[in-house]
Amino acid sequence: MNEPSAFRPALEHALRHSLAHLDNLKHGPVGAIASLATLRERLGKPLGDDGMAAEQVIDELMRDTAGGILGSAGGRFFGWVIGGALPAALAADWLTSAWDQNAASYACGPAAAVIEEVCGAWLKGLLGLPGSATFALTNGCQMAHVTALAAARNALLARRGWDVERDGLCGAPSIRIISGDQYHASITRAARLLGLGTRAVTGLPVTRAGQLDAATLERALLDAPDAPTIVLLQAGDLNIGAYDNFAELVPLAHRHGAWVHVDGAFGLWANASARHRHLLAGVELADSWATDGHKWLNVPYDSGFAFVADGQAHRNAMSYAASYIATNEQVREQSDWNPEWSRRGRGIAAYAALRQLGRGGVEALVDRCCDSAHALVTGIGALPGATVMWEPRINQGLVRFLDPAPGALERDHDAWTDAVTAAVLADGEALFSNSTWRGKRCMRVSVCNWQTDARDVARAIAAVARVLEAKNS
Ligand SMILES: *Cc1c(COP(=O)(O)O)cnc(C)c1O
Repeated sequence: MNEPSAFRPALEHALRHSLAHLDNLKHGPVGAIASLATLRERLGKPLGDDGMAAEQVIDELMRDTAGGILGSAGGRFFGWVIGGALPAALAADWLTSAWDQNAASYACGPAAAVIEEVCGAWLKGLLGLPGSATFALTNGCQMAHVTALAAARNALLARRGWDVERDGLCGAPSIRIISGDQYHASITRAARLLGLGTRAVTGLPVTRAGQLDAATLERALLDAPDAPTIVLLQAGDLNIGAYDNFAELVPLAHRHGAWVHVDGAFGLWANASARHRHLLAGVELADSWATDGHKWLNVPYDSGFAFVADGQAHRNAMSYAASYIATNEQVREQSDWNPEWSRRGRGIAAYAALRQLGRGGVEALVDRCCDSAHALVTGIGALPGATVMWEPRINQGLVRFLDPAPGALERDHDAWTDAVTAAVLADGEALFSNSTWRGKRCMRVSVCNWQTDARDVARAIAAVARVLEAKNS
């Protein structure tokens, strides 16, 4: 039987287009050049009665999205905190779609289930977390927060005799979340989704180094000594990659009966590096941790991880039972730990990334990104009219651009900084995004891509130099 596969033409076209895109990342502009109106006009066709050949769908998709695909998979993309995709991870992601397993349970995809089991064990080792912690592979750090904080909610209320899974939150003691004020907005949304409300979240002022200090935390804990409390600590904050002092703060929070959750979306990966591991001393003492695979590990999107020390609380919060599901104590049922039921076999790409790199490869990736971030920030900061606001300790830093007009005020420098960042984007050689840090607009430099090398760094600095020269003349 040599029947031509119905899949072959579309998959072959997709492979060709993918390779063309990935190869072009070294040359093409990093930003989008197609306008919103153009993209809407090209893509917003009427959905006709008749379909078309699969490979034609792929060809038209390629044509219609042209100019609307950012170069975020390439080495000159430094915006937000965005990783690329390792070759093995990308290829495994394609296989994930070809296999199309439902990773809800072992029965629906035995190999996918075992792969997730293995990923969990590898990751705990790599990230320095307790081997006994339970885990879930989520679609990102946002849902990893929701998963871990649902476990926190369960445990904190159970200690007060309240079964939140059965009785909900009406009438339950209010849970509060205390953190340094540089927390990510995904925490606020997790508080909303979990019924805690945004008012539950208190951001305390941090030190010059971006850390929550012990006296500030203790004062807040003493404010409401009986309230069920989650202390959120930061392993790499979004602007400067600051790490809280876990060895000091986790025991302090525990003395006051709090649950400690760590947001380590990208910063937890520093544990893979001998040079940077000291930043995470004591992190293993926390109660739950959330991180991403799709940022620093360079897995394609849809990869986050939640870990919980109290496995019973985790399972109580997430377990899934249904009349049509046979329970099997021999296996790890993903749906007992995850917030979703049907879902993608997202562990497969993470597994492939970890195997391609090995422990040494993850360490080299982390160190290389940190070195590139440092070279970018100090290189750009040395240009006339630029100033370094935060020299990277890991892979995140900040620069600011000063309006040369005599008597320029801070707000002029703010506008100038935004204008320079926009001009760099328009130049197309590199892409950076902006942030407000300590009340000032900054250009944020984030390096998370496995491909970024010294040439990319030099090209990006040269692009900023060109923009400054043009604006200052
Ligand atoms: C990106 C990020 C998040 C959210 O992660 P997603 O994967 O986008 O859901 C949370 N915290 C920090 C510090 C981040 O950088």
